[in-house]
Amino acid sequence: MKLNIREFSSSSVDFRAELEALLAWDSVSDAGVQQAVTDIVTQVRQRGDDAVVEFTNRFDRRDVSAATELEISREQLAEAKLRVSDELVASLEAAAQRVHDYHERQKQPSWQYQEANGTVLGQKVTPLDRVGVYVPGGKAAYPSSVLMNVMPAKVAGVGEIIMVVPTPDGFVNDIVLAAAYIAGVDRVFTVGGAQAVAALAYGTETIPKVDKIVGPGNIYVATAKRMVFGAVGIDMIAGPSEILVVCDGKTDPDWIAMDLFSQAEHDEDAQSILISPDADYIQQVKQSMETLIESQSRKDIIKVSLEGRAALIHVADMEEAMDIANLVAAEHLELSVDEPEKWAEKIRHAGAIFMGRHTPEALGDYCAGPNHVLPTSGTARFSSPLGVYDFQKRSSLINCSPQGASELAKIASPLARGESLEAHAMSAEYRILKD
Ligand code: NAD
Repeated sequence: MKLNIREFSSSSVDFRAELEALLAWDSVSDAGVQQAVTDIVTQVRQRGDDAVVEFTNRFDRRDVSAATELEISREQLAEAKLRVSDELVASLEAAAQRVHDYHERQKQPSWQYQEANGTVLGQKVTPLDRVGVYVPGGKAAYPSSVLMNVMPAKVAGVGEIIMVVPTPDGFVNDIVLAAAYIAGVDRVFTVGGAQAVAALAYGTETIPKVDKIVGPGNIYVATAKRMVFGAVGIDMIAGPSEILVVCDGKTDPDWIAMDLFSQAEHDEDAQSILISPDADYIQQVKQSMETLIESQSRKDIIKVSLEGRAALIHVADMEEAMDIANLVAAEHLELSVDEPEKWAEKIRHAGAIFMGRHTPEALGDYCAGPNHVLPTSGTARFSSPLGVYDFQKRSSLINCSPQGASELAKIASPLARGESLEAHAMSAEYRILKD
């Protein structure tokens, strides 16, 4: 199948403008969606369970009469796991264990230190009490999302994990439920969209209010998460998924073609970019794509994604490839090159760096261990993968000795008076030791 994919050369005078246009993505939802979500969130906040039931019946074509019917018990999760093949359960368990082990290393301990005068300063780290995990379920099911969102929360020691997942037409996905069982989710509700986000943010008679909502979803979910932020914490607002492959021209072109497809098959807006200093190699990858796409079950989505948002970029050398990779700040960056460690040192902005020819993004998506919830749309410039730290918070600890308080008060008093805050000044001065 002929593929009409953009091709750029970094030597072109228009290159920077072309690159900017390629990367531009407007994450602001349209006014219609905004209005619909405002209405759903307001109704759920005011009418609780009744509104959740009403919207669930309307948007997921269900026939539920009470919100209690929306809950799936741990026993039902265990039964769902029995209906899943042994091979798949073994993969879920192996992936869960690997993701758990990786995230164990992210745990931040509390710390403190003592000054010579006896004052102790420190930081106490505590897990969140209750977290809501949104698992998308409108068009497809995502058991890997369950593991990636729940495992770091478990490792952090979150008190209770509430999962919500829509079940359109009442269809429940056993693999998603098995993943929830394996990951150790406490309660599951079959609710989706903005109504699920609002129920978690404000609580209803049946669905408990949480402290933070994590997990991806469609535009209704993303808009609702943005709206309830403040009442609860949220992880991030994810844009379409992206991959940037940098290849020196020595990897089998079929492998790179499939790595690019693995991103493009997510959805029509997903972005796949190849950068190489070898112009002939770029053409070989393109040929591989044109051949391999024929046999892909999601070829229609792949074609739209590649023709709409993909690019093949020829650069002068690997140094320039690294500069462009830092500009793109991709969610997934594959360095399919010799000495990937050397080149990775030059990367400052990327959600995840997949190093070497044998490290396709797909392995990271499921089971390598690191989280697959990553910053998109260039936000890797200032944010990080979902991790244990997203489910922990920190409290400062200050424990002054009499001598320490006296010394600090002599510093604080003039500062307080400089701000005309007399009570502050006097509160400090009371602690000054008289000799
Ligand atoms: P979803 O669960 O996000 O949305 C389904 C819900 O949308 C429905 O339950 C319904 O309540 C609501 N909805 C649909 N039409 C509506 C309307 N007209 N008015 C009000 N509400 C409406 O499932 P989805 O739609 O399949 O979307 C999943 C999204 O999650 C995709 O965009 C996918 O790419 C993304 N995703 C991202 C990751 C990641 O890691 N970044 C992983 C998995 C999925």
